[in-house]
Amino acid sequence: MSLYQEMGISQEVLTFSEEILAGLKDRFEELDKIAEYNQYKVLHAMQKNRVSAECFAGTTGYGHDDLGRDVLEKVYVDVFHTEAALVRPQITCGTHALATALSANLLPGDELLSPVGKPYDTLEEVIGIRESACSLAEYGVSYRQVDLLPDGSFDWDGIKAAIHEKTKLVTIQRSKGYQMRPTFSVEQIGELIAFVKGIKPDVLVMVDNCYGEFTETIEPSDVGADMVVGSLIKNPGGGIAPTGGYIAGTQACVDRCLYRLSAPGLGQDIGASLTVNTALYQGFFFAPTVVASAVKGAIFVAAAYEKLGYHVVPASSEPRYDIIQSIELGSEEAMLAFTAGIQAAAPVDSYVTPVAAPMDGYDDLVVMAAGDFIQGSSIELSADGPIREPYAIYFQGGLTFPHAKLGGMMALQKMLDRGLLQLN
Ligand SMILES: *Cc1c(COP(=O)(O)O)cnc(C)c1O
Repeated sequence: MSLYQEMGISQEVLTFSEEILAGLKDRFEELDKIAEYNQYKVLHAMQKNRVSAECFAGTTGYGHDDLGRDVLEKVYVDVFHTEAALVRPQITCGTHALATALSANLLPGDELLSPVGKPYDTLEEVIGIRESACSLAEYGVSYRQVDLLPDGSFDWDGIKAAIHEKTKLVTIQRSKGYQMRPTFSVEQIGELIAFVKGIKPDVLVMVDNCYGEFTETIEPSDVGADMVVGSLIKNPGGGIAPTGGYIAGTQACVDRCLYRLSAPGLGQDIGASLTVNTALYQGFFFAPTVVASAVKGAIFVAAAYEKLGYHVVPASSEPRYDIIQSIELGSEEAMLAFTAGIQAAAPVDSYVTPVAAPMDGYDDLVVMAAGDFIQGSSIELSADGPIREPYAIYFQGGLTFPHAKLGGMMALQKMLDRGLLQLN
């Protein structure tokens, strides 16, 4: 018996998968080039800022004179080409980073505009689209949204009409999140930023960069974003960072974020890094190649399910601007089989079976498969989705390509075993 068979992968699934992969060689080579460029960008920033062993010692208490924290923030500044950055374990997740950036830079009477349709589910309560205590709406910040056109492009006229004297901040989500709309390239985001700033030069632009970092050789901060915001248990943490988030941007915006994160009047020089510095550096170092592995996994799964006739977004041949692959599986049973496969392929908790359950911040039941070293980390191989039409599963992550490949094969296997698909 082969190791594949011992692990539960049939010859049929293996042969099918190898055929799919044979057609992806050139594509994978392009991804390796992006990873190399980004790896050197990170290395160059670490060298320029003289990262040394002293940076790995943490601080406690107030965290004054935390060399590691300060130098890491300079490394982020040089990678994102911004004036300032906050990279902190005290930022608990992506939603927290986004909520901090928004609430720090919006005042009562201001309006927030999303020109790219509905934002990520958990931001609905932050903004107050769904009522919540402490939402921006409760503090008197209004919200306006311009939906994308049916073909997924920007509604330029609608956006122009939505900008007025109260419009203070424009939020652009790079990744599709839990929607079937396309993810935007940095170039597209740059066009949108130029457009809104052309109408109102003093408007601030924040980009929700979650899942997008290092998928291209430029970031939204290279094309005019005032703030780029993300989670360290996604791309830039490289699977190593145990917690945290970042906000990189203009000095003025980031200074306000510091005050909102800690307290008005407290400066950059507060916030103990405890014992996490080494992991945040190592994770950032690994991030470019980890992201490339995840994108390869996403393309493999897209190509496999496309061949079987499923609607996948993006298509396997399309360019990639985030690590997320959505596949319309069409039924709850198929979502459960797919996630069972991802779970069975995990290094941790491979023996458990995912079920649909309610989850904080989400309106629908959600099914999630993840056997992570870092709890909830979605740069590690994971698959999840809300149980609602069109029963789309979102596949993302993979610290190494062989693991992402195994996950994809195991998902096929579980669906095959349960009579939910045929390989022919
Ligand atoms: C994950 C994600 C968030 C929220 O991040 P959490 O860390 O889960 O709070 C926000 N926006 C997008 C696009 C995301 O992918």
